[in-house]
Amino acid sequence: MPDAPPPTLRLRIDTEALARNWRALDDMARSARAGAAVKANCYGLGVDICVPVLRDAGSKLFFVAHWSEVAAVARHVPPEQIVVLHGPITSEDAAYAKALGVLPVINSIAQARAWNDAGGEACHLMIDTGINRLGVSPSDLADPAIQALSVQILMSHLACADEDSPMNEAQRRMVEGCRSEVAHSQLSLANSAGVALGLDYHFDVVRPGLSLYGGVPRSELSDVIRQVAYPEAAIMQVRALSTGDQVGYNATFTADRDMRVGVVSLGYADGFLRSWAGNGFLRNDGRQLPLLGKVSMDMIVVDLTNAPELVEGDWLNVPYSLPEASKVSGLSQYELLTILGQRFHNQG
Ligand SMILES: *Cc1c(COP(=O)(O)O)cnc(C)c1O
Repeated sequence: MPDAPPPTLRLRIDTEALARNWRALDDMARSARAGAAVKANCYGLGVDICVPVLRDAGSKLFFVAHWSEVAAVARHVPPEQIVVLHGPITSEDAAYAKALGVLPVINSIAQARAWNDAGGEACHLMIDTGINRLGVSPSDLADPAIQALSVQILMSHLACADEDSPMNEAQRRMVEGCRSEVAHSQLSLANSAGVALGLDYHFDVVRPGLSLYGGVPRSELSDVIRQVAYPEAAIMQVRALSTGDQVGYNATFTADRDMRVGVVSLGYADGFLRSWAGNGFLRNDGRQLPLLGKVSMDMIVVDLTNAPELVEGDWLNVPYSLPEASKVSGLSQYELLTILGQRFHNQG
């Protein structure tokens, strides 16, 4: 097979900003150490680009959700630094962890039994302090299967860290209350937003994800965190519209003047969802190029009035400063990162 021709969709990853974001969060956490949530292919940005950067910045803990995510991360870091958040759901999961030397998070009495049956030894333990997803209830911590575990990190997860909610303090107190119930080496509660809640929330290990990749879940982080992901798409065709011409499915845009437009190789299959239409735009050299009509699977059409010199093959920036992009698109900052599709050519 010959090499594929150059792509018309690329995702530039600012690896310097990624490393700086990790160090900034690690610094904010003071005496606590920062790990890195690298689940979902580093929130869509690519394990092979991001994990080596986070490792070289200093991270020694890498959180994934699924067992299927372990192998890709294990190409870059020692297995004992990989944490599998979903835990051993089947005995095959436990055997796989044992064979690789990866540490699971134990999330229930059943998982504790499965882990003990597989030989036990080092693991992490999630306690539920109110989010009611995975995690052992504080009232179950006395169970012999839990007490038999060799817990490295005792952890819980904040439900409302991106808000000023009384639930934050309530969860923090519950974690404090569980400290003496299970022997453990380290304690952990904070995700990205939790880091910004202050020293009381840091304990020994913090687990940022979103903010490593440029997300700003709380305003305290807005001057600290830098954008990491820069999607760009090429113009495939320039068209001249006459007054009255319509654009896209269902002809929702009608030109009220003669205008030049660009057909761009980006669509909802690439994670650029239809919710961008209406007030969305692409950018070139600081100029805004409004979207016209609906987003198709593989293309969008933009108004080139503000950039008359652009031609086929020129690149346009997708405005992906996450707090702003979230407002324009109505998608969460997490969704904006993780939905970026497979057709982007990622460049570190
Ligand atoms: C995803 C996840 C994190 C990271 O959360 P962010 O909000 O992305 O910083 C931390 N801990 C657990 C248990 C998670 O599932």
